[in-house]
Amino acid sequence: MSALAAARLGYRCHILTREHYSPAAQVSHAVTVGDYGDPAVLREFAAAVDVISFEFENVSAEGLDLLASLKPVRPSPSVLRISQDRIAEKTFVNGLGVATAPWRPVTTLEELEAAAATLGLPAVLKTTREGYDGKGQAMLRTPDDLAPAFERLAPKPLILEGFVDYAMEVSVIVGRGEDGSVSAFDTVENRHHDHILDLTLAPARIAVATDAAAQTIARDIAAGLDLIGLLAVEMFVGNDGQVLVNEIAPRPHNSGHWTIDACPMSQFELHIRAIAGLPLPPATRHADAAMKNLVGPEEAALWPRILAIPDLIPHLYGKEEARPGRKMGHVTRLFPKGALPGDFGVADSLGFLARRA
Ligand code: AMP
Repeated sequence: MSALAAARLGYRCHILTREHYSPAAQVSHAVTVGDYGDPAVLREFAAAVDVISFEFENVSAEGLDLLASLKPVRPSPSVLRISQDRIAEKTFVNGLGVATAPWRPVTTLEELEAAAATLGLPAVLKTTREGYDGKGQAMLRTPDDLAPAFERLAPKPLILEGFVDYAMEVSVIVGRGEDGSVSAFDTVENRHHDHILDLTLAPARIAVATDAAAQTIARDIAAGLDLIGLLAVEMFVGNDGQVLVNEIAPRPHNSGHWTIDACPMSQFELHIRAIAGLPLPPATRHADAAMKNLVGPEEAALWPRILAIPDLIPHLYGKEEARPGRKMGHVTRLFPKGALPGDFGVADSLGFLARRA
């Protein structure tokens, strides 16, 4: 989707990927299939391009360092490093004066017991690296849960987070240019199913002050990181309206896919503009939107029926294999601005797809 946005701006993308038949390669000018830990591959890739970015976090930071010695890498490897490690991420965010769930680093079972005693139960134990979509985490409800969860989760170290009894999960996607200019999309509301994003509603139905807090947090983190590129900030909104940062991702984000259809400039275009040094116009929205992910073989198989639903805007990613839990595509439904219906209305508008909405 970034490659498509880049093409529309007149750029040609060169994709470095480990995957044969990657979705990005299908719509790009050039592709290198290789290991992003291999210096020879990286040197050859850098020689072929003008500016380098990444669109998921589990790439090698050392590999990015090598690339950054050859060509501009945006966001910088230091931003990637912070987002790759939950301890670095929370330390950084808290250092800006921004609240997160209370947390403790955990390297031994004794430390876990001490952390659980301090933070209380329930709590969530997470790997510090390479966890996403609920992978690499365990909910601890009783003291008996501690030892088995500690045994199961790897790689260590881990982090224990106090459980947040939130009213809503929201996110803000912000772009920032080399000159410090910033453009942020409206705060959206995210619903998960089996720890995977299922539905995003734009805009989030939150109080004006809560919205302002979420927007300020996203902009402060982008500025604090000295970001050039795109950043998604996922947040919990507590029942009292308090906003806590859950995690940050310095790349286009699933909760911003609705922007392709509801905004003059999508998150992908904002990403490309930011890394290419183009002006960043305000991230406006001409419609309200509901975005529903198509996850795994089950939902991918609904494709022919999805195409027959009026007013659903379909997006299929061209992934080779539909594995359980894998995001295969999404659909967007637009509503007149200010007319995003309540939960039942959104469900109605998604037809048979809304069984979980
Ligand atoms: P994460 O991988 O950190 O984004 O967590 C995945 C999902 O687990 C989040 O979207 C929340 O629904 C839930 N979750 C994560 N951390 C917490 C927490 N500290 N308290 C409550 N729920 C959480």
